Amino acid sequence: MKQQHIGDITVDKHVELEAPFIDPDHALPTSTLDEFETHRRWLDPSYVDYAQMKLIFSFHSYVVKTPHHNILVDTCVGNHKPRPLEHWNMLDTAYLENLRKNHIAPEEIDYVMCTHLHGDHVGWNTKLEDGRWVPTFPNAKYLFSEGDWDHYKDLKVGEHGYVSWNDSVLPIVEAGLSELVKSDYQLDDQVHLLPSPGHTPGHYCVHLQDQGQQAILTGDLIHHPVQVARPDWSSAFCNDPDQSRKTRIKFVDDYADTDVTILTAHFAGPTAGKIRGNGDAAIWDDGSGRAL
Ligand SMILES: [Zn+2]
Repeated sequence: MKQQHIGDITVDKHVELEAPFIDPDHALPTSTLDEFETHRRWLDPSYVDYAQMKLIFSFHSYVVKTPHHNILVDTCVGNHKPRPLEHWNMLDTAYLENLRKNHIAPEEIDYVMCTHLHGDHVGWNTKLEDGRWVPTFPNAKYLFSEGDWDHYKDLKVGEHGYVSWNDSVLPIVEAGLSELVKSDYQLDDQVHLLPSPGHTPGHYCVHLQDQGQQAILTGDLIHHPVQVARPDWSSAFCNDPDQSRKTRIKFVDDYADTDVTILTAHFAGPTAGKIRGNGDAAIWDDGSGRAL
């Protein structure tokens, strides 16, 4: 992704991994292959590997630099962490080294914003040091939503999601670096959170604005570009698929044919884009020209 400029705010994508990741009906249980054919002209090749019929997913963070704060949004999967999914299990990537080399030193991050508390959005909150999980960004405040905290705080050993909760969320709380916030929290005039419940109860998007320009970092409000055309398709990973559908339909409707830059958590390729058209005719415009 090219660096995005929202007034004096810059946004860079920092990728942990990108791959043909999952079967369409596994990720989007109500999807049909016919519909993927219908939208092939703008999904192929960046977003769907049609030869293998796999959806391509990217796992990345956003490095947001405003005149006042350095912010990291979503922290991917992390290294050395046992995870049930093959693509995520015991990763050993150069995420941290590349972050320092290409964007910013971990010590310079002022805020870590996790749009929600799933394992692929909290992983680099911590790193392994002398056998312990310690905060990767020692000078940051980590903003967790109250809604997600309340939903997950009683997870027990062995329950789904416990492992990432235990190695990537609780150590931050124990270190005193977490701050529980409402999903509409306002950091300052340029950065505020937007409630977007459904994928998780307390899910938030991050809204950036400066000098009349706007961008929204959507987290998992939307997982794949095809959902711009079919916002009624919720993912298999949504806590409340019905609420997720409602939130996404409204989002696509609200931002269609506006100049708001949309930055999602899992779109591959160019990643930054805009929503064009409405209803059945809505498409994802990533600036490549293929969508138009
Ligand atoms: Zn995710």
